[in-house]
Amino acid sequence: MNKNSAIRKDIGKNIIDTHCHIGNTPYVSQTAEELLDEMDSLGVSMAVLCPMGANIVCKNQEGNELISNAIKKYPERFIGFASVNPWFGKEAIYELKRSINDLGLSGLKLHPPMQGFQANERIVFPVIEEAIQLKIPIYIHSGTPVFSLPLQILELSLRYPEGIFILGHMGGADFFLDIPLSFNRVSNVYLETSLTCHPVFVSEAVNKIGADRLLFGSDSPTSQIKAELEKIKVLNFEEEVLNKILWGNAYRLFKI
Ligand SMILES: [Zn+2]
Repeated sequence: MNKNSAIRKDIGKNIIDTHCHIGNTPYVSQTAEELLDEMDSLGVSMAVLCPMGANIVCKNQEGNELISNAIKKYPERFIGFASVNPWFGKEAIYELKRSINDLGLSGLKLHPPMQGFQANERIVFPVIEEAIQLKIPIYIHSGTPVFSLPLQILELSLRYPEGIFILGHMGGADFFLDIPLSFNRVSNVYLETSLTCHPVFVSEAVNKIGADRLLFGSDSPTSQIKAELEKIKVLNFEEEVLNKILWGNAYRLFKI
C-alpha cells in the first residue's frame, strides 16, 4: 500500500467498501474499471476485492491472479482477498501462501455454500490455521443454512481466538437475530453490512456489540454500493459512529 497516497491524507472524507467482487458468474460480472467508476461516483476511496463465481469454487488460482493484477494496477484503490477451496487440501494451503506472499493479497475469503463445506467442520481447520499463521483476516459468507449460519462461524471464532474473522452479511436476511445475542461473547469477529435486509439490523448491532466491530460492505456487483450506503446513511448515526463503520474500522483492520 502506498503510504503517501492522497487517500491516506484525506481518509476522513472517504469510504472503504470492505466487500466487492470482480470477475464473472452466470448472472453478474464486473471489471476493476467498472467498479472504480461506481466507487468514484459515490466517493468510495478504497474497496476490498474478492474473486467470484467459479474463481471461488474451483478456479482459485485464476481468481487470485485476477485480484492480484487489479491491486497492482490500482494499489491506492484496492485491497485483495484470496479465495481457496478447503477441499483442495494441501493445494489450498499452497495457493493461500502463494496469494499472500507472492501475489500481494492480504486476506482470505471463504464461501461455505459455494465451496461445499459447513463453516465449523474440520475440513476448513487447516486453511484457518494457515490464515492465522499468515496474520490475515478471514472473511466468511454467512446466512445460508446449513452451511454458514452465524452460530457456526461463532464456534469457529471461539475455537480460534487468535484468528480475525469477518462475518459476511451479518447473518443475511434471516439470521440476524443470532448476532446481538451471541457475538458480544467474542472480540475477534467483525460484522460486514452488505445484504442485511433492514437498516435496523445495523443499528441493533451498534447498540448491542458496539460500533468498533462494524464494517461497511456492498457485495458489489450482487448488490449496489449506492443502495448499501443508503442503508447506513438513513440511520442518522452520529458522525463518530458513521466514520467508524464507513472507513475507520477498516482503516485499522487493514492497516492502511
Ligand atoms: Zn460476496
